[in-house]
Amino acid sequence: MTPAIQSTNFFMMYYSTNDKFHRVDARQAVLAGLAPDGGLYMPESIPRLPQRFFDELRGKSLQEIGYIVSSIFLGDVVPSDKLHEIVAGTLDFEIPLRQVGEAQVLELFHGPTLAFKDVGARFMARLMSYFVEEDDRELTILVATSGDTGSAVAHGFHNVPGIKVVVLYPSGKVSDLQEKQMTTLGGNITALEVDGVFDDCQRLVKKAFVDSELSQALRLSSANSINIARLIPQSFYYFWAMAQLPKGEPQVITVPSGNFGNLTAGLMAKRMGLPVDRFIAATNENDVVPEYLITEQFNPRPSVATISNAMDVGNPSNFVRMLELYDRNAQKMREDVVGIKVSEKQTRETIARVHREYGYVLDPHGAVAYNACERSVKRGVVIETAHPAKFKDVVEEETGEPVEIPDSLAKCMEKEKKSQRISSDFTELKQFLLTR
Ligand SMILES: *Cc1c(COP(=O)(O)O)cnc(C)c1O
Repeated sequence: MTPAIQSTNFFMMYYSTNDKFHRVDARQAVLAGLAPDGGLYMPESIPRLPQRFFDELRGKSLQEIGYIVSSIFLGDVVPSDKLHEIVAGTLDFEIPLRQVGEAQVLELFHGPTLAFKDVGARFMARLMSYFVEEDDRELTILVATSGDTGSAVAHGFHNVPGIKVVVLYPSGKVSDLQEKQMTTLGGNITALEVDGVFDDCQRLVKKAFVDSELSQALRLSSANSINIARLIPQSFYYFWAMAQLPKGEPQVITVPSGNFGNLTAGLMAKRMGLPVDRFIAATNENDVVPEYLITEQFNPRPSVATISNAMDVGNPSNFVRMLELYDRNAQKMREDVVGIKVSEKQTRETIARVHREYGYVLDPHGAVAYNACERSVKRGVVIETAHPAKFKDVVEEETGEPVEIPDSLAKCMEKEKKSQRISSDFTELKQFLLTR
């Protein structure tokens, strides 16, 4: 296959959003996650894809698109055959586009944990594995989770060579399904069930990173959601959605948003030439970004709990990346992004009505997006981020019918939980890591 860009020493550099002069290559940006000054890494330039790419888009597979787009971001840091392998390993499930009413719903939930985070986590895992393979020292990923991130990361890294994952979750504080998704994998994944709450897990992980004895004995890393490696693959499916649509019509894409990583990836795709008129940033009650787009004031605050809980974010970490893309100019951002807040009542009504009118079952996150799309443009692409079975109770309340449980989920629920219980005392975690 021909490379997307005839790469004669093409080298993408990344800078820290806190310091334009702090520049690293993709390898360093991915392995570090966060810049040392606490900033997020951003690509220094986002080149436009050649017109030919768009002319031929409709004949391309998801994997081909993924390869071409990621080669822009990774330049020469990953050899072409390796990048093909990473993309193919990431995208081995379908991402269909379905007509629902006047909108087209892009189903991003056919991966192993039934949520779109699988795409980012799987790509990051494979990319990190390639980077550590090069320098031959095993990497141990520590993750503290309140549920969803842990399972996506655990599945993403499962059986990936050169990497071990230790997931810390609060005992009795995650759903049965989430617990099974983290504790039944085995192999390179270890689940630690902590006697405590999520904050204890978080504290233990933070302490481990600054412990000198541990950092000498082990090469520790995090699988943080702000890692640029999670954003890169999230831009693929915007091109893929376009590849499945008839040519010509300018599109509007609605993205259910919390930390705004998904939307930021879409905005980067637009910068690369994706023919999109506008993005709609759909939020639940946690609406700091829609508010910014109206008032030009960014006012982060504690999150409020909703039924679309993966979007309960009061201080979205990717907002700074959005600011960078638009030179910190709200007026410029408005040309590409419209913010819409959706209430709990509207979310529930949307689940009920879309089921009644079109026989389609949305999850609460997709319902937020669907509602925002209906209220603004009606048509266009709606991003659906989770399988309704993950939010069975709410969905069944609104549709009045049992939600179909996918096979993979049913199988996972039958497996035996394997976790190791530890107290919330750091010495116990340290001992575990040193003697494992
Ligand atoms: C994480 C998540 C979101 C929000 O995505 P961001 O990139 O954080 O904006 C939406 N829906 C589901 C199901 C999620 O897990």
